[in-house]
Amino acid sequence: MEDAPRVLAIDWSGAKSGARRKIWLAEARNGQLVRLENGRNRGEIAEHLLGELELDPRLLVGLDFAFSLPAWYLRARDLTTATELWQLAEREAEAWLEDCEPPFWGRPGRVKPELPSQFRRTDASVRPVGGIRPKSPFQIGGAGAVGTGSLRGMPMLQRLSEAGYRVWPFDRAEPPALVEIYPRLLTDAVVKSNPKARAEYIAARFPELSVRHRSLAASSDDALDAAVSAVVLSREAAGVTTLEAATDPVELLEGRIWCPDGRYATGSVELDGFEAEEEAGALPDLLAALQFAAERHRDQRRKGREASPYINHPIAVARLLAEVGGVSDPVLLQAAILHDTVEDTETTLDELEARFGPEVWRVVEEVTDDKSLPKLERKRLQIEHAPQRSNRAKQLKVADKSSNLLDIAHRPPKNWTPERKQDYFDWAERVVEGCRGVNPALEARFDEVLREARESVADN
Ligand code: ZN
Repeated sequence: MEDAPRVLAIDWSGAKSGARRKIWLAEARNGQLVRLENGRNRGEIAEHLLGELELDPRLLVGLDFAFSLPAWYLRARDLTTATELWQLAEREAEAWLEDCEPPFWGRPGRVKPELPSQFRRTDASVRPVGGIRPKSPFQIGGAGAVGTGSLRGMPMLQRLSEAGYRVWPFDRAEPPALVEIYPRLLTDAVVKSNPKARAEYIAARFPELSVRHRSLAASSDDALDAAVSAVVLSREAAGVTTLEAATDPVELLEGRIWCPDGRYATGSVELDGFEAEEEAGALPDLLAALQFAAERHRDQRRKGREASPYINHPIAVARLLAEVGGVSDPVLLQAAILHDTVEDTETTLDELEARFGPEVWRVVEEVTDDKSLPKLERKRLQIEHAPQRSNRAKQLKVADKSSNLLDIAHRPPKNWTPERKQDYFDWAERVVEGCRGVNPALEARFDEVLREARESVADN
């Protein structure tokens, strides 16, 4: 075991501020964790890795960001190697992050563009863990975005490779070597956002850790990722360090996520198939939104006589979209579930962006009134702004108003006079007027519901 390499795993961060807190470094030897710490920023990590190389070149380092971008992008920019991409990133990455022009996306207001592919082949071939899989390296904002860290990591790859590190799979993985890791594959489906779950996971899977390392590893998801990645990589080191360089031309451009055998999806992966599989991740996302909204609305009731739990309303809106409007767009369905959390609970838009990503954020933002304005002004603005809304927001508005009309018709609020109801119907009709032309089935249902609602008032 004398020549087992030292293993470092770094849980990287592209964050502009707070990188010293977020970037964790773990060291393992012979499968045992010997060091776990944060406190270095990106530049200091690079310096540290250069220093470690001088100290002992039998070093294997795992880094958790994408070492390259999809091959089509490199080809489109006339780049013939990943190294050329790193050099370009050295000069341009900050501008790409600043401008967020396609193919990059994810900053507020920058929706996902149509691209030849969002993913590298390796991102697509990773087995989903708990419904989670690698995100597009072009995504540079929003929950779980990996693009920022990757773009800010590439210049470091260039420096380290010039200093003598081999970067797998562009080079063979004989130490000193860097490999790309995706910690989620190495930790398995632990709920990393939950401190108690982290502590239990560490205690169960890594009982050999010292008390101090155990509590550090459980202290944040970043610390846990670094610690577990170092230990797993170290246990597998004998196999890793004999990996050859890629021969496949796509892999030579895009790189490859290292993971233990069996953690890749089986067989060769078609990217088209992956787009369909990406949809499959929509269900866990939707359930997460549902749980979040139910929790936030837990103390609220609908205005109707029956005072039904508030969450029934967003659920009804999402069902109208799905069942009447034929909507399967996961972003729109999540936004429907979450659409009243900002307006009616303590939830902030930032929170939604962090948890559910920039696309969901944008739709909810569009349908949220500015509560600092007087009520009449808010109602007027809904009518005025409707035509400028995105297609997603327009459909959500139509379903929201339909659900409200149904409630008023069938479960009317106790002290609403017929006049007040009529006023609401007239207003809803005008808002929906500005949302038409996107989803005819949904709009037809609204018309039907409006007629029914008006009749219900006339009958009384
Ligand atoms: Zn609503």
